[in-house]
Amino acid sequence: MQVYKEPIMKNSLNSLTLLLPLFFLFSCSAPKTAVEETPPTVSKNTRTDISATAALSLKEEFQPTADKDTNANSQSCNNEQVKLTSDFAAGRMDECKRTGEYEYSITLVPENTPINSSPWYAFKIQAKQVTDITITMKVQGDKHRYPPKISRDGNKSWQLQDYQLKGERLIMKVKASPQSVTIAAQEIINNQYYVDWAEELTVQSAFTQSILGLSTQGRPIYKIESRDENSNEWVVILGRQHPPEVTGALALFPFVETLLSQSELSKYFLRKYNVLVIPNINPDGVHAGNWRSNANGMDLNRDWNDFSQIETQLINDYLKGLVAQGQKIKFAVDFHSTKNDIFYTMPVDYGVESSYFVRHWLGELDRQMPNFNVVLRPGNNPNLGVSKQYFSDQFGVHAITYEMGDNTDRTKIKRIAFKSANILMINMLSETDHDKE
Ligand SMILES: [Zn+2]
Repeated sequence: MQVYKEPIMKNSLNSLTLLLPLFFLFSCSAPKTAVEETPPTVSKNTRTDISATAALSLKEEFQPTADKDTNANSQSCNNEQVKLTSDFAAGRMDECKRTGEYEYSITLVPENTPINSSPWYAFKIQAKQVTDITITMKVQGDKHRYPPKISRDGNKSWQLQDYQLKGERLIMKVKASPQSVTIAAQEIINNQYYVDWAEELTVQSAFTQSILGLSTQGRPIYKIESRDENSNEWVVILGRQHPPEVTGALALFPFVETLLSQSELSKYFLRKYNVLVIPNINPDGVHAGNWRSNANGMDLNRDWNDFSQIETQLINDYLKGLVAQGQKIKFAVDFHSTKNDIFYTMPVDYGVESSYFVRHWLGELDRQMPNFNVVLRPGNNPNLGVSKQYFSDQFGVHAITYEMGDNTDRTKIKRIAFKSANILMINMLSETDHDKE
């Protein structure tokens, strides 16, 4: 089964790492000072009533409480000849100025500070006639992380856009035409993309999609489940806590598709284990083109201790509900992106069950992919509020943060996901004693 319609990255992007200057050096998981911010209190009665939302149709037209068109993120440069706009889902261009006849200046501004350095942008360009324009893009108080991509076919396929860096300014020349083009930090995977993906997936598998609850601004947060009545053990898969971390999403899709592929291995696996996938935890942040946060300006992957946000509360409540029904959380994978491909794990001696389970799994991945260097980074950070730690502390099991590099070859991301999902299934079905090295 091949469900995931990959936003196609043309040839040049498959050797992307070679083209990138070294200054795109950022980490998604590095704790930043933002961690110390006091979260706003969310009273319990703002929680979503799951039983009520379950009645919502999945296809129901969404009415956001914050209208994008009145959103400060929505800016445009609009004159007779050329139009630059960001008033679409996941669009972002905080300021736009026309600085010359064919010259434009864009400034990117984070939703709050301090913040992880992941300046997101996405805007469309259209011109009355074919015109070469020059765009200079700078980031307020920060540097660029993502080299620009361009789509000329309505965000289906993407290519690297040529650019130059002069100090902190990123400069690109774009051929604008009546046919609109999109420039973005990474391939655009917006909220609708997830819904379409999951609908296609559930048509072809035993998975079901439903609404777990509503985000801060009232957007649906979907869950996809495969549940066998004879099984009570769960693998949990999470994604998109951090909106710009698109390569994490590009890994989650094939990973989940492999688990659900109905291959002999998958069928066997799904008889033994239930799977819960929450692919898009932060739909408000994704819609707004946020660098990091949800609609309240909170980093969700620092909220798994406090549960001050509806998005993390919903998942915590749901998992605890499962456990209260006698179900067992067995393992969790949370998909992200950072500079390089890294698997953040819990230490072998942390005291969770099956101490060597992750080491066995990813060790086998390393053996089976000689051209891919599997980097394990064990860590224990009890007060940080990351999901990985939550799963280990709350349920006594392993969990990992699965990080794909921002610029990792897109085909390679798929290969790694396919292999790692297959080996995970074998590992979880084998008789191997994971308490021993
Ligand atoms: Zn992240």
